[in-house]
Amino acid sequence: MNNLSFHVAHLELTSKCNFQCHFCPIDDISRSSQIMKKELAFRLVEEIANNNLAKVTVFQQLGEPLLVPYLGELMEFSSQLGLKNRIGTNGLLLSKKKNLGYILKHCDNLDIGIRASNQEELSSICKNKNISFDNYLDGIKLFIAEMLKQNSETVITLRLFMGELTQQILNKIGIDYSLNNTPLMVPIEHKGLFLYFEECLDRNWTEDKNNHSRHIGTCEEFFYSFVILANGDMTTCCWDYDGQNTFGNIHSYNSIIDVLSGKKYLNARKLFSQNVVPFKLCTTCSRINKKVYFEKNLSKPLVYSHE
Ligand code: SF4
Repeated sequence: MNNLSFHVAHLELTSKCNFQCHFCPIDDISRSSQIMKKELAFRLVEEIANNNLAKVTVFQQLGEPLLVPYLGELMEFSSQLGLKNRIGTNGLLLSKKKNLGYILKHCDNLDIGIRASNQEELSSICKNKNISFDNYLDGIKLFIAEMLKQNSETVITLRLFMGELTQQILNKIGIDYSLNNTPLMVPIEHKGLFLYFEECLDRNWTEDKNNHSRHIGTCEEFFYSFVILANGDMTTCCWDYDGQNTFGNIHSYNSIIDVLSGKKYLNARKLFSQNVVPFKLCTTCSRINKKVYFEKNLSKPLVYSHE
């Protein structure tokens, strides 16, 4: 196999979540809801680091990583091996998780996605129906205040959909940023945090809204990353949330490199290099011929700093 190296490896440690956000297809996926076995997660991280397969591990695809009992240990291990770590959370457990300090010690990037604007929306997405919207926001507010007080090295990005109530939410969590011609999909540094506003997504992440179907083209995402889902399926990118482009399952091979040396993966790589779209899902994907999502929007992809 040629030397393969990516920027990002996504490991979906869990496909379970304590929320069911409206834009998230987690309830539509065909694979079962599960947490990746701890031994497997450690083995994958070790292989990624030892073979320079990626610089950054994102411990997520779908699912809430703070539900994973071994997350802190795994991130510590990953850091010790020289990888950068990133997770995203809906924020509910930031005020409840016991070993959060330990997890954050090894977390380079933490994204907090606030995907409800009021009590009604929170009640419709949060599986625990006893959580009040004010308590949810208070938990995030306290967490952020504490992290800023400690001068934490974790780069925190607060992600919100832009809407009528967005300013109110910012006010409630004590962020004195005024929304006024604020650009979308650009990280805005604000007093030790990054703020990131985007339009509300729908569940069909990949679909080209102009209904284009393309068989000629290439995909930077494909060359930028790979994804291992909680069930062991390896797929092309974080846009393929249901593993439609799966090119092998890690349980049927000895290693990631073995899967990446398989016919199906190498053939897809060859076709994309020749400007031919290899998977059916890709033919209707909005990412064809586009810049990598994060590179377009962040000055430094995935791990950016306060400097
Ligand atoms: S075209 Fe879309 S689905 Fe296909 S590899 Fe690229 S980002 Fe993934």
